[in-house]
Amino acid sequence: MWDFATDPDYQQVLDWADEFVRDEVEPLDLVWPHLQYTPLTPARRTVVDDLKQRVRAKGLWATHLSPDLGGQGYGQLKLALLNEILGRSSWAPVIFGCQAPDTGNAEILAHYGTPEQKERYLRPLLDGELFSSYSMTEPQGGADPTQFTTRAVRDGDHWVINGWKYFSSNASTASFLIVMVVTNPDVSPYQGMSMFLVPTDTAGVEIVRDVGLHGEPEGQGGHALIHYRDVRVPDSAVLGGEGQAFVIAQTRLGGGRIHHAMRTIGLARKAIDMMCERALSRRTAGSLLADKQTVQAYIADSYAQLLQFRLLVLYTAWQIDKYNDYKVVRKDIATVKVVMPTVLHDIAWRAMQVHGALGVSNEMPLMAMVTGAAVLGLADGPTEVHKTTVAKQILRGYSASEDVWPSEWLPRKREAARARFADHLELDIGNL
Ligand SMILES: Cc1cc2nc3c(=O)[nH]c(=O)nc-3n(C[C@H](O)[C@H](O)[C@H](O)COP(=O)(O)OP(=O)(O)OC[C@H]3O[C@@H](n4cnc5c(N)ncnc54)[C@H](O)[C@@H]3O)c2cc1C
Repeated sequence: MWDFATDPDYQQVLDWADEFVRDEVEPLDLVWPHLQYTPLTPARRTVVDDLKQRVRAKGLWATHLSPDLGGQGYGQLKLALLNEILGRSSWAPVIFGCQAPDTGNAEILAHYGTPEQKERYLRPLLDGELFSSYSMTEPQGGADPTQFTTRAVRDGDHWVINGWKYFSSNASTASFLIVMVVTNPDVSPYQGMSMFLVPTDTAGVEIVRDVGLHGEPEGQGGHALIHYRDVRVPDSAVLGGEGQAFVIAQTRLGGGRIHHAMRTIGLARKAIDMMCERALSRRTAGSLLADKQTVQAYIADSYAQLLQFRLLVLYTAWQIDKYNDYKVVRKDIATVKVVMPTVLHDIAWRAMQVHGALGVSNEMPLMAMVTGAAVLGLADGPTEVHKTTVAKQILRGYSASEDVWPSEWLPRKREAARARFADHLELDIGNL
């Protein structure tokens, strides 16, 4: 059965969330920009805790998680509909308990954590009381994890970690890190790497500097270069068993990628809203911008691009709920990841152009969206790598032609068709 309608009860909840985000949460982006991942000061706590409480009262806190983990068990499709609203604001995901990278990290803790690990890390993470960081990329290369050299060596019932990690988002404000490390260099990296849970205050975890994105002052930013120097952790710090890092990474990144896509819908929609308002407000060369054919094309192209993207994201989320296995949906998650930067880039760029000089100024959020689109083409893996994944998955459904001629080669097909209908063809010729 195909159905594109939202259940009316849930739609009511979404309508509430839409109003709540616009009125109560978006202002936080203006008064406390870039502070959503930092520990709460008493002043911020008063506001933020109250907002979180109102979300909980509506049953919208961490909705994608199962009830035993404090969520509603709504799954990915309902999260997608909610995330489209939250994507408008940097603070909203934190207020609703579904922010990156913590959702992905919570997911692998829920999936692979021991009861002790869940109690120590997952519970407070879900309560929104602490943040986490995923520490995988290394300075010498991120797209290819087989290049990683950060190493853990066993010492009795402990492991000692040494190496460098780069772009570990939120590490400076996180309470713990999930670190991907080589534990056995003698086997393939697919079996020789493990995930470790490392509290950020463990001796030897040195955050060398925080790298910022474009627009952030040098030395400030959320993406840490970390030196792990003789970091000693017990056996119980291994997540999901020795040698399981690749399997865990796939679970981790599958969820993270689709959640970014859901939020991107909200951001792109915001850009279209801005473009349309401007088109109806600005008059030049004898008419409104909205009457110019090129501007109309900007609006139509943006709507078409967003609608296609949205349907792809919702369909992919629906599949994740249906199969409950990211591996089965890998092709479409990678497809979403591939298109996402272009959709946001194109729409934000057009909206920016329609705003003229104001559009590229620091008085509008449009340039930040364009930069954000570039980030989406790198974070969680570069577009090129995901295209390879999509192509490989598609090619699995095909095989080579039997001989030098393609199976759709017309002379052979025509010959086969003629042979099949030979009796009728002879009759036709006889009747001429
Ligand atoms: C905002 C942001 C947040 C991030 N957060 C985290 C985080 O929390 N934790 C973490 O571990 N990492 C994080 N990353 C790092 C991210 O995962 C890496 O940047 C990404 O995997 C690419 O690695 P790299 O930057 O080393 O580029 P490289 O691996 O050096 O690749 C550079 C370029 O080479 C090309 N390329 C690479 N491989 C291929 C290929 N197979 N085929 C064709 N072309 C290819 C692509 O154009 C690619 O962009 C973050 C990155 C950003 C931008």
